[in-house]
Amino acid sequence: MKIQLSRKVLKRKRAEKKERRRLSALAKAGRLVAGVEIPPGVLAADPFRQVYGGQYAVKYYYKDISYQCSGCGKHGTWSAEQQKRYFEEQKGNIFNEPKWCHRCHRKRMLARYGPKETQ
Ligand SMILES: [Zn+2]
Repeated sequence: MKIQLSRKVLKRKRAEKKERRRLSALAKAGRLVAGVEIPPGVLAADPFRQVYGGQYAVKYYYKDISYQCSGCGKHGTWSAEQQKRYFEEQKGNIFNEPKWCHRCHRKRMLARYGPKETQ
């Protein structure tokens, strides 16, 4: 019984060591965001630069999102880079999802706010 227990402890310690090594490898590869593992091939987010109402809405990474425009029905892609800029630099609404293509969005904004002033 005693031997079995110590074997269990050894096994656990080995697993912990393996997990630590795995996490440090992930961190080196830029795949650890705020202690959360992100999938390979995605764009890492900076949760501290986002504006979010609750922890559950925070984004740890971005990946391209395909959508269909509600106006003209055109298919488009909201790229990971665009999302990062929108959520972290422009401090966009974290719950926003792509709904309008660039052209329809501009048309809507124009209708709502009038032409943008140009310098
Ligand atoms: Zn459209």
